Order: sequence, then structure tokens, then C-alpha cells
Amino acid sequence: MKILVLNAGSSSMKSCLYDLPDGNLPARPPNPLWQGQIDLTHQQGVAEIKVKTAQGATVEATYPTESHGDATARMLAMLWEGETQVIEDLKAISCVGHRVVHGGEEYRQSTVITAEVKEAIARLSTFAPLHNPANLEGIETIEHILGTDMPQVAVFDTAFHGSLPPAAYVYPGPYAWLEQGIRRYGFHGTSHQYCAQRTAQLLDRPLNDLSLITCHLGNGCSLAAIKNGSSIDTTMGFTPLDGLMMGTRSGAIDPGILFYLWRQSGYTGDQLDTMLNRQSGLQGVSGVSNDMRVLTQAIADGNARAQLALDVYIHRLCAYIGAMLASLGGLDALVFTAGVGENVPQIWTAACAPFAFMGLKLDPAKLTRSPHDQDIAAADSTVRVLVIHTQEDWAIAQDCWHLTRTATPAAGKNDDL
Ligand code: ADP
Repeated sequence: MKILVLNAGSSSMKSCLYDLPDGNLPARPPNPLWQGQIDLTHQQGVAEIKVKTAQGATVEATYPTESHGDATARMLAMLWEGETQVIEDLKAISCVGHRVVHGGEEYRQSTVITAEVKEAIARLSTFAPLHNPANLEGIETIEHILGTDMPQVAVFDTAFHGSLPPAAYVYPGPYAWLEQGIRRYGFHGTSHQYCAQRTAQLLDRPLNDLSLITCHLGNGCSLAAIKNGSSIDTTMGFTPLDGLMMGTRSGAIDPGILFYLWRQSGYTGDQLDTMLNRQSGLQGVSGVSNDMRVLTQAIADGNARAQLALDVYIHRLCAYIGAMLASLGGLDALVFTAGVGENVPQIWTAACAPFAFMGLKLDPAKLTRSPHDQDIAAADSTVRVLVIHTQEDWAIAQDCWHLTRTATPAAGKNDDL
């Protein structure tokens, strides 16, 4: 069964095609038949498209568009016109899975896409204006190219956090906020859930017997407190702006700063939005870059603001790990994942240091990057510390595989998987 995965961000899209057996799913992700990447950030009005096949062939193209949908259509057309193997792959697709950022309160599990689901994704665009419209465009592009009969599945970033208790998801504003849907939703759910399942596999323990903190540290950053397989607390909130300091996002700040800027300098809502989402975080404090690799080099070159940015990042990371720990009341494993979490030993060491008091101890011999998932805790540590390469696309493909076997499109929301 061939499953196409489309994972659209606000300005980029990753996609891949898996070929999965009909019998049982493999325990580990197989290599995709091909992987594609679309970048809309480098040149205004131009999509840069890159596709790599499992055989090692790479096809690259640029295409004049600002639309995810057009760029996706172009990428699939490139494949169609490309190697014979790939043409056959496209014809044989059985299901297309989409990462959809916001599923609101309604969608707590992955769902076969129907007209009703599309309408909900469009409606929820008010909560995720950069992401949900791009996700919907991807869905409609596939309908256009592969036909409306092609089964499509939405895998929501918010779904895994549907288990948060009210004390964790209610904001202490007027109660009317809650009635308007203003509450903590949490994001990166696919990654947190995958890491929790993979942790249970690596530790060879049942997931429903584990207390975990998963640290998704990429350009966007969030933590999840996971008890017995369910998310019980997380750092991102109503939007992906809450919580940790990120690449270009501030994370949580005193909301009074916004009123001060508004009153003193007349900033508009849109300007404040841009400031907090695109001009803050590692980029904003350092003035150097949002990329940890560039920042680390700048620190090595003696750049004091780059050092300050890293210090703030670590301070907040540790503070929020402490908060998740309090929600859990115990900890079996601390898990690092995503671009920074998988690759920066200095972050592992700094994030773990404050928790030495409870017997959490790293193994100095293991503090190097590895292409494999690894346990970097010392043998006598009271808490395991894992570095896991997140596999969001694989998690999406698995949901498609399960749903296309068990669901009918009319089944709609919440009742499968
Ligand atoms: P996204 O949130 O965009 O999916 P990723 O999980 O791919 O992000 O993480 C991207 C970030 O990870 C980069 O901006 C960079 O800061 C960091 N990163 C990626 N690879 C490395 C590396 N080898 N060393 C240090 N940092 C890295």
C-alpha cells in the first residue's frame, strides 16, 4: 500500500511516499520511495522544489508561485514526468496523509477527510492563519490531481493534547475566553506522541506505565508531560507562540510588554505579531541567527549577544522542564528530539544539569550526536535520558494505514484509531 504524506509548514513543505505492507506494519520506519521538499522562503514568489528518490537520484526545480497548492502540484508533475518507477508509484497511491496544524476541540484523533472535516479546517484557520489554509490547499490540490475518491487523512498537531486536564488548558482570563475557544491546545502532538511510543519501545516497558517529558526543540520548540501515554501538560498554548524561547518566536512573555509597546510607540497588532513570531527568540536576542549551528559558531567567535541568547534559551528550557516535572510528579525518561534536540550535546548537558539533585546523570561517553536513537543517561541514573530522531511523516503514514483499513469516510471525527 503506497501512502503519500504531505507535511506543510507556513512556508515550507516536506513530503514523502511510503510503500507499506498489507499485513503488519514494520516496527521501524522503512525508507520512503522518495522525499520531496518545497521551500517558499528563499526567493519571493518562487518555490524551490527538491525531490530525492530512494535510488539516490535528485531532481531540483524552481517554479514561480507563492501557493503551496501550486508548488505541490508542480512537484507531483515533476515526479510524473520523471523516472518510470516514480510514475508507477504515483498511480498506485492508496491514501494521502496531511499534517494539519489546528484541529480545535473537535478533532482529538486522526480523521478521514470529508467535506465536514474540510469545513472545520477552514473554520479553524482563524486560530492558525499561517498553517490551516496551507493544509487545506494541500488537500484540495490532491483532490484536483488524484481525484476526490482518493482517501485522504488529516493528522492534527493538536490532537495528542486533547487529553489535557482543565487545570492545564484553561487560561486564567475571563471565563468567556473558554467559551470562545481561547484555551491551551498545544502543538507538535504527532512528534510528542511518536517519541513517547518510541521511548516505550527503547526502554522495553509499557507506555501506560511511564512518566515522560518530551522536548521537541526545532525551530519551533515545545515540551509535553506524558503520563501513561496521555499528554497531561504542554508548553505551547492557544497558538504555537506560548512557552519556550524558539528560533524566531519569543515564547511566553509578560503580556504587559505588548500594552507598553502599543501605548508608548503605537505598534499595531500586526506589527506586534511579526515582532513576537519572526523577530524574537534566538534571532531576536542574538541579532545573529535563529539557527543553533550559526549561533554556536558565533559564541565560539566571542559574540556576547549570541551567548546571552543561548543562556536565556537554556534558562527557560530548564524552567519549563521543572514545570512539566511538577505536573507529572515523577519521571522515568526525559526525551530530546527535533533539529536542536537531536544534535546539540551542549543543550542535553545544560538542560539536565539542574536535575542532578534527583539522581539524573548523563554518561559523558555518550554525549555525541548519533544517527541512531540513543540513551545518554549514566547506568546508575534515576531517570533515563533519550535522544530520539522524530519521525512525524512515519507517524502520519501509520495513521493513514490504520484508518484506511478501519474507517469509512462517513465515520468522521473522533471515533477511529
Ligand atoms: P522545524 O521546526 O523547522 O521542523 P527542525 O526540527 O528541522 O525544525 O530544526 C531546525 C533547527 O535545528 C535549525 O534551525 C537549527 O537551529 C537546528 N539544527 C539542525 N541541525 C543541527 C545541527 N546539526 N546542529 C545544531 N543545530 C541543528
